[in-house]
Amino acid sequence: MPELPEVETTVRGLTPHLAGQRLLRVSTMRPDLRRPFPVDLAQRLTGATVTGLSRRAKYGIVSTDRDDHMIFHLGMSGSWRIGAGEPGKHDHLVIDTAAGQRLMLHDPRRFGSVDLVAGDPLIAFPAFVTLGPEPLSDAFDAAYLSRALAGRRAPIKAMLLDQTVVAGLGNIYVCEALNMARIAPTRAAADVPKAKIALLVPAIKAVLEASIAAGGSTLRDYKQPDGELGYFAKDWRVYGREGEACECGGTIARIVQSGRSTFYCPKCQR
Ligand SMILES: [Zn+2]
Repeated sequence: MPELPEVETTVRGLTPHLAGQRLLRVSTMRPDLRRPFPVDLAQRLTGATVTGLSRRAKYGIVSTDRDDHMIFHLGMSGSWRIGAGEPGKHDHLVIDTAAGQRLMLHDPRRFGSVDLVAGDPLIAFPAFVTLGPEPLSDAFDAAYLSRALAGRRAPIKAMLLDQTVVAGLGNIYVCEALNMARIAPTRAAADVPKAKIALLVPAIKAVLEASIAAGGSTLRDYKQPDGELGYFAKDWRVYGREGEACECGGTIARIVQSGRSTFYCPKCQR
């Protein structure tokens, strides 16, 4: 499942193929993904020039000189393919640039989405309005997180997955960061000591940055035909490693919180 680093890698991978390019043709191959494609998507994007790409939480944003912003979410299984010939069964959106490049949004399970907003997307796109700060931004620091967690009795893991507290963090990265900061995922958020919050914030940034760096190192592959953006092998500390050894010598356990697996080390995470 694509998380923030995959989306960041995807945006970086698409940028050289789209930024500054005029869109020759935009075609949807079916009416919907998780929800319908905007009915005027092709009309508003065709002939426009892409002015830049960006990311907010797990959304990628493609902006045009018409002040339209196409906002895509990769859902469970989405990815962009570059220069891959004729669209296949699961290629649902096809973009051809005036430079002769073809980009296709590939999404076998169709939990992704594509929206189009006019004007500043941070204001115009409803899903962005309630989002907390970007985890890699300076606004996300220990002072902010301490304030956000004050008085909250929910488990720290649930609070970090709450998109209004911090934007775009997924299950894997929360498990990894809590292990790095030696915090039990079940601990009430308000009871996490300030000294541990001061470790948690850089841990979150570090796990995300390591994955973005790993993704970046695979970007060269995307220039090849059939290149698929956004997925890369990872070496996790605890995620998916139930029964294996933590670096402290403890044994990694798996529990279920809010219906999702949590991997952690009961020995060092308190
Ligand atoms: Zn441990």
